[in-house]
Amino acid sequence: TEQLNEKLGKTQANFGQKMKQLFALKKKIDEDLFEELETTLLMADVGAAATMDVLEKVRKSLKRRNLSDSDAVLAALREQLTNLAQVVEQPLVIDEAKKPFVILVVGVNGVGKTTTIAKLARQFKSQGKKVMLAAGDTFRAAAVEQLKTWGEREGIPVMAQNTGADAASVIFDAMNSATARQMDVLIADTAGRLHTQANLMQELEKISRVIRKSDESAPHETLIVIDGGTGQNAISQVREFNNANQLTGVVITKLDGTPKGGVLFNLAQEFGIPVRYIGVGEKSSDLKPYRAAEFVDAIIE
Ligand code: GDP
Repeated sequence: TEQLNEKLGKTQANFGQKMKQLFALKKKIDEDLFEELETTLLMADVGAAATMDVLEKVRKSLKRRNLSDSDAVLAALREQLTNLAQVVEQPLVIDEAKKPFVILVVGVNGVGKTTTIAKLARQFKSQGKKVMLAAGDTFRAAAVEQLKTWGEREGIPVMAQNTGADAASVIFDAMNSATARQMDVLIADTAGRLHTQANLMQELEKISRVIRKSDESAPHETLIVIDGGTGQNAISQVREFNNANQLTGVVITKLDGTPKGGVLFNLAQEFGIPVRYIGVGEKSSDLKPYRAAEFVDAIIE
C-alpha cells in the first residue's frame, strides 16, 4: 500500500491532500464545505453523477448519525468512496477448465494496450501458465513487430500474419494453434484505430463472432484498456467499445502520471464493469490487480 501510495501521488495530491487541507481549515460543516468537496471530486474526474451520489450519501449518513464534525465528514466520505470502489472489485480469475482461456484486449491507440498485454503475459507465465499472444492489430505494422520481438525475447509464442491480414483470421488461427499446443491462456491484441470508427467496431464484432466459432464460450474475457489521464474520454471509449463487444473487464493505465485517478469512481458509477488491473508505471510489476480498499487508502491516506 505504501508503494501504491507513492505511485498514485498525483491523484493523492489532487484529492486526499486537498480534502485534508479543506478539513483543516474548516471545522464547521456548511454548504460551503460541501461545495468545496464537490469541486475537489470533480477536479479529480470523479464525474458529476458519482460526485452527486457520493456527497448525497455522505449527507444522509451524517444526518442519520447526527454527526457534524469534520472528522466524521472525512470518515463518511472515505466510506462512501470505498463502497463505490468496491462495486468494481472483482479480480480476473483464469478458469483452468477453459483451454485456452481467451482474453480479447481492446482500446484506442496509445492507451498502453501493447504494454499491458506484455505485462499480463509475463505475469501469467511467471505463475506457470503457458501463454500465447495473437497479433490482431494488423493495421499497425509496428504493433505486430513490437509484439513479435518482445515475444521472442520472453520466450512467449506470438501468432502473427502480414500487415493488412484479416484480424479475425489471425485470431482464429491462433486459437487453433493454442488448442493444439495446449496453451492455458491466449491473449489477443486488436486494432485501436481503423479507417473509421465504424470499421473498427465492425471488425471487433467480427472477431468475437469468429472466436465463438472455435469455442462457444470464448472470449472468456473482453478487456478494455483505458488511459487514466483521459478524463471524460474514458467514459465515451468504454461506452462505444461496450456497444460493439460486451466488456467484462477494465484496465486503467498510467495512473502514476495523472492527478485524475478519480476516473475510476466515474467508471464504477457509470458502468459497474469490473476493474481488473491498474497500471502505475512501465515495469511489469507496475500492472497491479485492483483492490478497492488499497486504492482508496492510496489516494486518501
Ligand atoms: P498502445 O498504442 O495502446 O499499444 O500503447 P503502448 O502499449 O505502446 O503504450 C504507450 C506508452 O504508454 C508507452 O510509452 C508505455 O510505456 C506507456 N505506458 C503504458 N502503461 C503505462 C503505465 O501504467 N504508466 C506509465 N507511466 N506509462 C505507461
